[in-house]
Amino acid sequence: MSQRIAIIGAGASGVISSRGTCSFSPTLYDAKSDGAAPFEDHRAVLRLRDPKTAILLGCDVESVVVDKAVYCDGRLHTKTDLRMNNLYSLKTTGELGRKSISELGKCQRYIMTGPPPQPTGTVHWNQRLKLVRSSGVYRQLIFESGCQAEYDAAISTIPLPALAGACGISVAPGLFKTNPIYVTTLEVCNPSSVHQTIYFPERRFWVYRATLQNRTLIIESTADIEENEREEVINAFGLGCCRIKQLSTHTQKNGKMVSVSEDLRRQLIWEITDKFNIFSFGRFGVWKPLRMDQLPEDLDKIKRMISSKQKQYQIQKERAT
Ligand SMILES: Cc1cc2nc3c(=O)[nH]c(=O)nc-3n(C[C@H](O)[C@H](O)[C@H](O)COP(=O)(O)OP(=O)(O)OC[C@H]3O[C@@H](n4cnc5c(N)ncnc54)[C@H](O)[C@@H]3O)c2cc1C
Repeated sequence: MSQRIAIIGAGASGVISSRGTCSFSPTLYDAKSDGAAPFEDHRAVLRLRDPKTAILLGCDVESVVVDKAVYCDGRLHTKTDLRMNNLYSLKTTGELGRKSISELGKCQRYIMTGPPPQPTGTVHWNQRLKLVRSSGVYRQLIFESGCQAEYDAAISTIPLPALAGACGISVAPGLFKTNPIYVTTLEVCNPSSVHQTIYFPERRFWVYRATLQNRTLIIESTADIEENEREEVINAFGLGCCRIKQLSTHTQKNGKMVSVSEDLRRQLIWEITDKFNIFSFGRFGVWKPLRMDQLPEDLDKIKRMISSKQKQYQIQKERAT
């Protein structure tokens, strides 16, 4: 008998884990209402570096060459210096680290096209995880709806503090925080086939990144922007003479996660796996700003751990019954 695999959370990471573990016929649970697609709330730029990720997501991609530059001290730069990197890093994360602003010039990326990715296997929507119980080989997920599901191993993509709470592990209130980002989407009325990104490291701008994707100009900022800032971004692209329509403004609630101590993060993930046989996966699941391209490698490790437990599981189960 093979293990019963539950996947908690059917966003992008849930889709990737369901497709990557399809040989286990996993069952998915998500708090969202019926069939809401991953990325439904995502208006920021979304690009993949590795087309293999798109295969795991089960979606089509278009390969594009993106030109990147920095706008600083009133002009465009095609080379970043340390000051720009540090300004950008502090502005977007409050920490110092090497950011994508350091890699300017041309780069190849993949943009998802076609219908949004969908999980494989059975999905139970409207199921918000409330409690996890584990005793010997008996493990159970209990949802706010009152539904209960037994599992042998689980992959959780829901935010780590929510999973910890359901497992009865307390974390200091307010420790795991996310900050919103604001996305302004405009349309350039001229025909366009370019993919260009400009970074804005200076603190005088709320905008930190703007991307021209064919005719769509996507402006990402840490606060709502005013007309004058929007104009400066448009001029940085040299589009001051174009007719430009505003399409939407959107607040993306979980735009940037505030990092927590590495020891605490690892300790929580380990404790949950050890006690409940639940593997945390994905950006919010492990509370680390991962790109989707980093997920296939993590999933391979989880699959190896689940498979290696299969034999041990069979022996334990035979003993228990
Ligand atoms: C601004 C921004 C830009 C990004 N740009 C890129 C990029 O260019 N390239 C790239 O590769 N990646 C990018 N990413 C990362 C990528 O978007 C994320 O990794 C991905 O969307 C996260 O998906 P997820 O499934 O891990 O989380 P989510 O999409 O949050 O999915 C979690 C799911 O869990 C469910 N859930 C939550 N709590 C519960 C509960 N208690 N019980 C049951 N279900 C629950 C939710 O309903 C949700 O469906 C970006 C992210 C952001 C925020």
